[in-house]
Amino acid sequence: MMTISYEYEGALYVNLTNRCDCACVFCLRHNGHKGSIYADDLWLEHEPTREEALDDLRKRDLPSYRELVFCGFGEPMFRTDDILWLVDRLKEEVPGLPPVRINTNGHANLIQGRDVTADLAGRIDTVSISLNGSTAEEYCAVTQPKDGVQGWEAMLDFTRRATAYVPHVVMTIVDKDKTPEEIQRCRTLAESLGARLRVRAYIPE
Ligand code: SF4
Repeated sequence: MMTISYEYEGALYVNLTNRCDCACVFCLRHNGHKGSIYADDLWLEHEPTREEALDDLRKRDLPSYRELVFCGFGEPMFRTDDILWLVDRLKEEVPGLPPVRINTNGHANLIQGRDVTADLAGRIDTVSISLNGSTAEEYCAVTQPKDGVQGWEAMLDFTRRATAYVPHVVMTIVDKDKTPEEIQRCRTLAESLGARLRVRAYIPE
């Protein structure tokens, strides 16, 4: 049994990969977790093919959701081309498809070795990028990216570029152990890139 899509608060979440180039200290993938508060069985025994994911999504009443969200129990942009393919198929097949969001660490261009942001145009309505801190040092301490400070720079660059093609570009931080000054620094940074900051409530396990 594995979960490709699951509902949460009126949205449909799609999980295509366990892979990630970060090792965030708070990540549920550590410590043998296979699920989250959102769903069990999020650890994929194999990555679904794009066709398997499409079959799964076709069984859903897609227009009934407020949003379709590509996230992952990993970094969804490892599957960038498959996400784009899926969105194209769904836009062809489903009248009234809800807005599409990608929750990402912002490393797509680093992972794919090319600038993918133009491909998001007309397909993706929102990208939500985890900011995690207002400096490279803090960011790297929390997310432990494989490529170190290059991961921080790639995330900022991706965000800036995405604002040219995606209507809603949001950076998120979790409101845990953050001073108002730190939150303000994150807000200033997000806005300097053309994005909006969203402060998410901390959900303890
Ligand atoms: S970016 Fe997301 S999936 Fe990757 S380690 Fe961090 S929390 Fe986990």
